[in-house]
Amino acid sequence: MTRSFDIVVVGAGPAGIAAACAAAEHGQRVALLDDNPAPGGQIWRGPRTAHRDAVSRAKERWLHRLQQNAAITSLHGCRVFDVAGDGLLAAEQNGQRVELRYSKLILATGARELFLPFPGWTLPGVYGAGGLQAMVKAGLPVRDQHVVVSGSGPLLLAVAAYLREAGARVAAVCEQASWSRLLRFGASIAPTSRLWQAAGYRWRTRSISFRASCWPVAAHGSKKLEAVTLSNGVRQWTVTCDLLACGFHLVPNTELASLLGCALQQGFVTVDALQQTSIANVFCAGEPTGIGGLELSLAEGEVAGLAAAGAIHAAQTHVPRRDRLRSFAAQLATTFALRPKLRSLPEADTIVCRCEDVPWRTVSQYTGWRTAKLQTRCGMGPCQGRICGSALNFLLEWTPDSVRPPIFPVSIASLAGPTAPAQAERSAIQEN
Ligand SMILES: Cc1cc2nc3c(=O)[nH]c(=O)nc-3n(C[C@H](O)[C@H](O)[C@H](O)COP(=O)(O)OP(=O)(O)OC[C@H]3O[C@@H](n4cnc5c(N)ncnc54)[C@H](O)[C@@H]3O)c2cc1C
Repeated sequence: MTRSFDIVVVGAGPAGIAAACAAAEHGQRVALLDDNPAPGGQIWRGPRTAHRDAVSRAKERWLHRLQQNAAITSLHGCRVFDVAGDGLLAAEQNGQRVELRYSKLILATGARELFLPFPGWTLPGVYGAGGLQAMVKAGLPVRDQHVVVSGSGPLLLAVAAYLREAGARVAAVCEQASWSRLLRFGASIAPTSRLWQAAGYRWRTRSISFRASCWPVAAHGSKKLEAVTLSNGVRQWTVTCDLLACGFHLVPNTELASLLGCALQQGFVTVDALQQTSIANVFCAGEPTGIGGLELSLAEGEVAGLAAAGAIHAAQTHVPRRDRLRSFAAQLATTFALRPKLRSLPEADTIVCRCEDVPWRTVSQYTGWRTAKLQTRCGMGPCQGRICGSALNFLLEWTPDSVRPPIFPVSIASLAGPTAPAQAERSAIQEN
């Protein structure tokens, strides 16, 4: 099936929702698609929580605005896996191939967590920090489970607060960044609402021990996680726990942008003042352009949506606010930059590519991503290097040399392409 829209927005997180609303309110027919069953992205997924804060109020406001707009077609459980031609995306929804034709495209594909391999990280019970939060939002019970939250980034406190409210016993939050960096960060956000947000999370986790300059070095257990060994660089100690929530900040989802040929710089999609990428009619908003949090994603989404709709003057009015918010992205990057010592986390037999079971001893003897891939199948499994590729980017400073379709696993039928009638329909649209 081929569906045609003025604007297609890929990703229904805050950036995509803001972009879709802004464009539709300026007369465009918009498709907003996401691989999740409902809009909201990483931060707004799941049911309403008991805690009423700025994040939940923003969620209600934006989801209401989205639902009010009849010009937006929301396609849920719909995942773009390839570029099918000029102005045409290939996606899969309910196991069926769907092709989406667009005049303008807005990429709002968000970010994922960075996982670093250490001994025991593949044991059942070891989750990503945001990953565990997402599973709890989807119904995983954690009441009375002992949890250690570790890694890096502002997400750790948010996750600890959420898990505690879900009934978990959070033993500690361990942040690899030092106190001096955290205090400088706190001072730099002091005049803004972000400090109140951070203080709110700390207040909700006030009975939980927070350690800076602290990271996990090994997870232990025979069949599942039983304990984790933590380090502060000087000494190590072991904490018994049922669950370890561990993520080392975020990495942008840029695979679709790369497939479209958009220019990237230092791993992020390059955009101009109006969120236009290096490819004509392709815009990008939110985490793929820089990890800057909810407010920046919303601001970039509004600029992208308005610019794609041709409302240039309206887009420009949002630019100063967006630019102010961008300085926060730079502060996040500096504060939560990973310490070089974390490069020594994997031991010889630590699995690095968990899809293809490739250990550190094997992968680390190669000099680059391409050779390692060809010789070991590292990064060639179902996740297509999303996990090990980002880890090796930090551990060995390797960068992936190309992105190939499909960017997500799909059925052979979807991959095979349109059937004859669909191809005829596609040709007819092209002729018109
Ligand atoms: C796991 C995780 C949990 C987080 N939890 C919090 C939190 O609790 N509090 C907080 O303040 N911040 C949290 N963040 C950070 C937060 O997501 C950002 O600050 C910001 O809200 C990102 O908005 P976005 O719209 O740019 O991206 P996202 O919210 O990530 O939205 C992008 C969407 O695009 C979809 N997508 C990507 N590629 C495709 C494709 N090819 N086809 C279809 N759909 C696609 C994704 O599934 C996702 O739903 C979290 C981040 C992550 C990665």
